[in-house]
Amino acid sequence: MGNILIIGSGFAGATAGALLQKHGETVTLIESSVEWGGSAGKFQRRKYRFPVGATLGMGWEPGGIHDRIHTYLGSRPAYTRQQYAMTLSSQGETLYYYEEREAFLQEWDRLFPHAAGRIRRFFRDVWSRAALLRPLMKQFPSIPPASASAAGSLLKGFRPGQLKLVPELMKTMDLLITRHQLQNESRFLQLLDHILLDSMQTTHDKCSLLFGCTALDIYHRGTFYVHGGLYKVIENLLEHITSEGGTCIRARKITRIRRGVNARYEAVEHRGRVHEADTIIINNSHHRAAELFPENLQHKVALPEKKKEWGAFVIYAAVEAGAVTSMPLFHQLYLSEEADHFFVSKSMENDELRAPGGFVTITMSTHIDLNRWKTKKEYDSQKQLLTEQVLQRLEEQYPGFRDSIVHLENGGPAAWKRYINRSGVGGYPQFPSNTLWHAPDVTTGLKGVYVCGDTVFPGAGSIGAASSGVLAARAAAGERIL
Ligand SMILES: Cc1cc2nc3c(=O)[nH]c(=O)nc-3n(C[C@H](O)[C@H](O)[C@H](O)COP(=O)(O)OP(=O)(O)OC[C@H]3O[C@@H](n4cnc5c(N)ncnc54)[C@H](O)[C@@H]3O)c2cc1C
Repeated sequence: MGNILIIGSGFAGATAGALLQKHGETVTLIESSVEWGGSAGKFQRRKYRFPVGATLGMGWEPGGIHDRIHTYLGSRPAYTRQQYAMTLSSQGETLYYYEEREAFLQEWDRLFPHAAGRIRRFFRDVWSRAALLRPLMKQFPSIPPASASAAGSLLKGFRPGQLKLVPELMKTMDLLITRHQLQNESRFLQLLDHILLDSMQTTHDKCSLLFGCTALDIYHRGTFYVHGGLYKVIENLLEHITSEGGTCIRARKITRIRRGVNARYEAVEHRGRVHEADTIIINNSHHRAAELFPENLQHKVALPEKKKEWGAFVIYAAVEAGAVTSMPLFHQLYLSEEADHFFVSKSMENDELRAPGGFVTITMSTHIDLNRWKTKKEYDSQKQLLTEQVLQRLEEQYPGFRDSIVHLENGGPAAWKRYINRSGVGGYPQFPSNTLWHAPDVTTGLKGVYVCGDTVFPGAGSIGAASSGVLAARAAAGERIL
């Protein structure tokens, strides 16, 4: 296979690199930012450390994706399992998203007693679909299978019961909503949509039924607080690369890739240094990956049509811990009935990797429509408006919050573009037309060039991105790893 170059240290790139190095290949990983991890990275301000984006850990339960990857590699970061994934606060009510299913259903009974039976049946249907799909997803399927070993993985995960899901492949979650007569339960749908927006980047009427069921089920498989932040997972993966003889280089951006002389490809850094490689894995979307190639090759990497991408706006605050003792670690906060929701994550009070004793760091993030942030005027006013709305909302919920802030800053699409080479973050909306065989896969039209990350099958989040890293490693190695 020759030298392997990984471009980018996000969840997908770092996973692919660590697996390939463990498999016996020689990996060089290059990251353009001074920080590792992309959307799951961190930054430091004085004594305070902030996760740039991802905070909620999943996939660490026995047999979960990260559990399997890190068992294979032989070490893992420290984490604490949560009793509930998050709380959802809306109109003075709080719902605890318990891992334990019956406790979770009782929460919905409490909020919607008149619809309790229908909501219970809805979630049972959701979970039964997820249970049918689980053996398939466990195999890290690539759909359609690109090789004989990928077809073998697909077959291994096949269960006859899955056949009954075939007619539902192109359906949205609306199918179950109407089947259980929940289409007029507007408050229930609003809460459901906010959960789906975070994981599927779209709402129940557009979200792929089968993927939506899997996403809603994942919170019941276990959610985790990773001590220090999810960047600790990335650091662990990168340590595997370097401790086994590979190389990781940061603050070096790859600006172009050309056909090579001694190796198949030459990737050129912004400072002109050239890396020769026979296999390249690019941790970015197909479109951004294509831009690295000469014009006559770009069509072989880019997708035929551009898919819609969301942006993210995040507010970062360091606060006195005493002001937010009652704030849960993971919290969905609704600004108003109609408006945006924010995902608020707080560090554990004794997590000294995030803040010194007596302080915690908090991130507040939301999806944004990039079209509303185009001009400087729009950008500045959106930033100011959202920051003010969120701080005000938190002040209402936790009186004294604003006075307890010792550091405050925010980041919009321009900051994401600067630090992780793309303003669209968090993957494509999981419409039926974007999932399964409609989803971009890790291969490209160029031999030895693969793409991975949250815009690649199976999609967003640390679990989806890491899975695409596994698929890229398998495709590059030409055999099953893990
Ligand atoms: C605000 C926010 C909150 C989120 N919260 C959660 C959460 O709580 N839980 C969860 O599981 N997921 C969450 N996610 C999603 C999750 O963070 C992402 O899906 C995942 O981290 C993306 O990983 P990736 O592999 O696509 O890489 P990216 O994060 O896109 O990283 C790619 C890396 O490659 C580098 N790179 C790209 N091109 C080049 C180049 N030419 N040269 C050198 N380097 C390059 C970039 O600098 C970057 O570091 C959140 C996302 C956001 C934006």
